Amino acid sequence: MKVIDILEKASGPLFSFELVPPLCGGDIRKIHDAIEPLMEFAPPFINITFHRDEEEFRQRPDGGIERVVVTKRPGSVALAAAIMKRFRVEVVPHVICGGASRHAIENVLIDLHFLDIENVMALRGDPLPGQRFFVPEEGGHRYCNELVGQIARMNRGQYLDDSITDAVATNFCIGVAGYPEKHYEAPNRSTDIENLKRKVDAGAAYIVTQMFFDNAAFFRFVDACRAAGITVPIIPGIKPISTARHLEMLPRVFNIDIPEPLVRAIRRCANNAAVNQVGIEWAVEQGKELVARGVPAVHYYTMGSPNNIREIVRQVF
Ligand code: FAD
Repeated sequence: MKVIDILEKASGPLFSFELVPPLCGGDIRKIHDAIEPLMEFAPPFINITFHRDEEEFRQRPDGGIERVVVTKRPGSVALAAAIMKRFRVEVVPHVICGGASRHAIENVLIDLHFLDIENVMALRGDPLPGQRFFVPEEGGHRYCNELVGQIARMNRGQYLDDSITDAVATNFCIGVAGYPEKHYEAPNRSTDIENLKRKVDAGAAYIVTQMFFDNAAFFRFVDACRAAGITVPIIPGIKPISTARHLEMLPRVFNIDIPEPLVRAIRRCANNAAVNQVGIEWAVEQGKELVARGVPAVHYYTMGSPNNIREIVRQVF
């Protein structure tokens, strides 16, 4: 079932979560272990992130340096299908512009369609490590709204090869990302929301936000989206802090703020078990307020560790 239909039919706020595929050579049982403890809360859909190939420089035995292309987390289409089959849950594989031509993207979408997967999350991706700006692949997309447009055209039966006249229309429900604290490249909030609207106008059916730790930022963002004419459901994304390292890592990687009271509470913790508990309590408070304000769902970034999410969901829903 499409995420948008799930949201429209729901009688109250839903719980969903996001998983990262295992590292290359990793065991799919780790994914099962990350999902099983959360199935009692009946998540209607599970997102699966996509990680583009990266380049690394490695030393050869002769002392020389060679450039190698590394696929750190392969197999996301197959993983999506495996999860759907094992857990009988809708999956939302992420499809990104970075590192992919339109042609490669079309082939991935054809595979997903063959697998009866009706949901995708469309994203641009970040610049590669060492790149200051995002560089589109040759024959690829510069911005996510172009990718949404490609998927929407396939939903109308229009493939890249326009000599194909009787192509089967795909049936994807498209989710896109939104940024309550603004995307780091956007010159200001309103421009970022105008750009978000391009994705919705191109065919996105709903928005999932970047993580945030201050609900006021989310409510401001939703108001600004509505004022800009964005009417689709907006799902808040929540990441519980679980280690002291997150204080530096999350702002650097995701360009988000951590409110002062949360920082102070974490700094007072003697160890990571205490940090994890603070993270749970903060996320519970966030979740309860979001649910009370009528969000369609709360989406949790699990990063593969379900235990804190389980505790949070038990208290919020
Ligand atoms: P876009 O919507 O293209 O926006 C990028 C920037 O360009 C913004 O500053 C925007 O304001 C601006 N912009 C957009 N359109 C235009 C336009 N037409 N003209 C001018 N400016 C424009 N990354 C991964 O690699 N894999 C994942 O699985 C993944 N999952 C994610 C899930 C969620 C819920 C979120 C919030 C992020 C995820 N990301 C993922 C990270 C994402 O790829 C980065 O945040 C990326 O920098 C932006 O992606 P986007 O799709 O929002 O880009």
